[in-house]
Amino acid sequence: MRIQLCFLASLVLVIHAGPIAQPVTDYDIAKNYLIRFYNLEYNPPNPSALKLDPLPEKLKEMQKFFGLKVTGTLDKKTLDVMKKPRCGVPDVAAYSTFGGGSKWQTNKLTYRIVNYTPDMSVAEVDESIEKALQVWAGQVTPLRFTRMYSGTADIMILFATKNHGDIFPFDGRNGVLAHAFAPSSGIGGDAHFDDDEFFTFRSQRGFVLFLVAAHEFGHSLGLTHSSVPGALMFPTYSFTDPDRFSLHDDDISGIQSLYGAPIQPDPESPTTPSYCNLILDAVTTFRGETMFFKDNLVWRRSPSGSVAQHLIKNLWPNAPDNIDAVYEHPVEKLYLFKGKQVWAFNHNSLELGYPKTLSSFGLPPSVTKVSAAVHNKISGKTLLFFDIYYYSYNEKMKKMDKGYPKRLEDGFRGVTGEVTAAHLSKNKIYLFSGTKVFEFSSNRKLLRVLNNNYFLSCYGV
Ligand SMILES: [Zn+2]
Ligand SMILES: [Zn+2]
Repeated sequence: MRIQLCFLASLVLVIHAGPIAQPVTDYDIAKNYLIRFYNLEYNPPNPSALKLDPLPEKLKEMQKFFGLKVTGTLDKKTLDVMKKPRCGVPDVAAYSTFGGGSKWQTNKLTYRIVNYTPDMSVAEVDESIEKALQVWAGQVTPLRFTRMYSGTADIMILFATKNHGDIFPFDGRNGVLAHAFAPSSGIGGDAHFDDDEFFTFRSQRGFVLFLVAAHEFGHSLGLTHSSVPGALMFPTYSFTDPDRFSLHDDDISGIQSLYGAPIQPDPESPTTPSYCNLILDAVTTFRGETMFFKDNLVWRRSPSGSVAQHLIKNLWPNAPDNIDAVYEHPVEKLYLFKGKQVWAFNHNSLELGYPKTLSSFGLPPSVTKVSAAVHNKISGKTLLFFDIYYYSYNEKMKKMDKGYPKRLEDGFRGVTGEVTAAHLSKNKIYLFSGTKVFEFSSNRKLLRVLNNNYFLSCYGV
């Protein structure tokens, strides 16, 4: 198989080698098409063995797939289909190094947009890609997609031309628009777009990136080509208004055969729990659980994922409602912040001498509140957030670190709004801002942007 592919690669290069290339005959077009998409094993021409021409048999296969009249001869209609812009993944699954028939073993997948096409704005590319992934999620499967900004995602998305690091070089304008690899590690799941094409947001002039991407992500998830005209997984491109796009029944049954239908909420239980749509006041760990604060309520999430609701006052008598920030100190001590005051609880009872003012942390009088706080057991430091700044408090020395406050954008690039809550989990820092949570690695690299109910196992929100 390797040898054939190399042969294919050199063939493609010859065709596109510019002025010295031979005129391409219809026979060559058909031959190259069938090699590429129908596993035609073509040996160098032998004029004395014309009867053994392997093309007709493969032509029949191709004509059958596209619903053409099965003649085995290269008629105009067949040739027209071959000249249509299409996906680079073969129509015969068994042939494909791209894989097929495989699936991801998890419903939570990550993607990363590695680079951008100059044809569209960054925002348009982002939206097209996100919409294209959502085609396969939410309504039709239990799949969920989370964007990554660095590192290796399951689905790496890139724009490239000609040779681009795999064994399937792109072919310049028209012809192949994109290709994607079936689920597996490494290149598996990745989607590549031929940047010699002109991609658009929704125009009929050029190729609508959303449509091309939605098709490719079908492959990224394990689907092969469909011979049903009108199905998204049909191999050739056809324009549809992206705003009116809906998945064909054939695509739905295909993807559900791999991942099943979406998980419906239990009809017995009330709709989405109230905590799923909140902008939280504060978040912390507490004795191995995670606590989420809003107004006068707190939700405890156990390590197994179950969530219980309490009044703050029932867990910590004397504690204020509507707190600004909270963090857990290693010795089962909890600090709650509200306005210019801080409360310390040992287990569930208020420590003697509390509440104290923020100056007990060495914060200057200009700090009118702490909007978020998070303690790192390993470093022994507590980060305190205020406005667009943050401070670092040394718990051992009981004093503020030198060089603070720092600007948020200097320590946590990517966070633009005020941090409303902060949380540390598995050595990653999570900064809550509005409806989003920004996930940072321990060395402060932005990894993902998540929904602010990420830790609460909310269905479909
Ligand atoms: Zn395809
Ligand atoms: Zn590629």
